[in-house]
Amino acid sequence: MTGHPCPLCGACAAETVFDRRNVPAHQNVVCETAEDARRFARADLVLAFCEKCGFVFNQKFDSGKLNYSAVYDNSQAHSAFFQRYLRDLCDYLRVKYGLRGKRLVEVGCGKGDFLRLMCAGGMNRGLGFDPSYVGPETGEEGAIHFVKAFYGESRCDRAVDFLYSRHVLEHIQDPAKMLRSMRKALGDDANSVIYIEVPDLAWILDQAAFWDFFYEHCSYFCAGTLRRACQAAGFEVERTFPGFGGQYLCLEARCAPGCHARAKPDPGELGELRARIGHFRKSVEERMQTSRERVMALRERGPCALWGAAAKGTTFANVIDPEARYIRCLIDINPSKRGKFIAGSGHRIIAPEDISACESEIRGIFSMNSNYFEEQRAKLAQLSLNIPLIPL
Ligand SMILES: [Zn+2]
Repeated sequence: MTGHPCPLCGACAAETVFDRRNVPAHQNVVCETAEDARRFARADLVLAFCEKCGFVFNQKFDSGKLNYSAVYDNSQAHSAFFQRYLRDLCDYLRVKYGLRGKRLVEVGCGKGDFLRLMCAGGMNRGLGFDPSYVGPETGEEGAIHFVKAFYGESRCDRAVDFLYSRHVLEHIQDPAKMLRSMRKALGDDANSVIYIEVPDLAWILDQAAFWDFFYEHCSYFCAGTLRRACQAAGFEVERTFPGFGGQYLCLEARCAPGCHARAKPDPGELGELRARIGHFRKSVEERMQTSRERVMALRERGPCALWGAAAKGTTFANVIDPEARYIRCLIDINPSKRGKFIAGSGHRIIAPEDISACESEIRGIFSMNSNYFEEQRAKLAQLSLNIPLIPL
């Protein structure tokens, strides 16, 4: 038990879920040299579970440790599988909400890929906010404007029909404030809609996916917690549903008129979450140990690699092989990561095309995300590489 108040509901009863000290502050920033990577800023990840509302948050989070500058790169746009996911999501949202000739706002648009998709062919007008955005300030012949800064409703000086935010809320220390600010930007038009997408806490807990808990993410939601947080901010939640093979939690809501009472959690739902946390606590050490043993067993035959040098791969490598002694390298299809080093452990990142240069050495590759497994296997086949690809 700790006395640190819950950022979502203010309650003081929070219990530790997962405790990892001195982890790299960023997972989606790569370094020029192994030395830079090992000197990368570190911080503590101490996740606590709020008994009152079900929110899970990093009690030791200090936003000053993070820097979402242009070098921050969490783009998955190089994957055909991910592109398909974005296209399907775009089609779904456009059809369901009749998004044609509408004014869209994306909070945390990254490099702008999804906003361009939503506004393609002059279909809609878009405004995207992200301090890590790189590129021209306008796109789609002036239909899109990018603001290289954090979102704030004061920056949003035009009427908005549809506001969405994908994988942002988990980076925010005070998500309630962020949701209120989104609500304010939408005004009182009951036709205005929001779409929110975050990692699903329930999925992480069920899988004991320790590589999905990292410093950049200070806030974790299950469906009930996210629904109540949106209701408290003045939204009427239409539905929550799983996305991306269950890894994501998605929410659609409309603006609710009037004042907003904080909805109480269902005791059954909180009990279910508590049971999931109990399962995670019991199984996570074993999961780490098994992962270590699998890496070591593979290494008996020769060096191994991880496929995926984003947050999951970086976290996994830092937990399992913090001194970069057993995992030879990380493979990633993002060309801007090629030849760079992951923060913390300093493992080198190579492109798939570089594998053949060390084919005689690499005896096995662990795939960091089951969603990309087939795509990775196809790439190995295309490169005529006969190296076993192993799911985690
Ligand atoms: Zn709480």
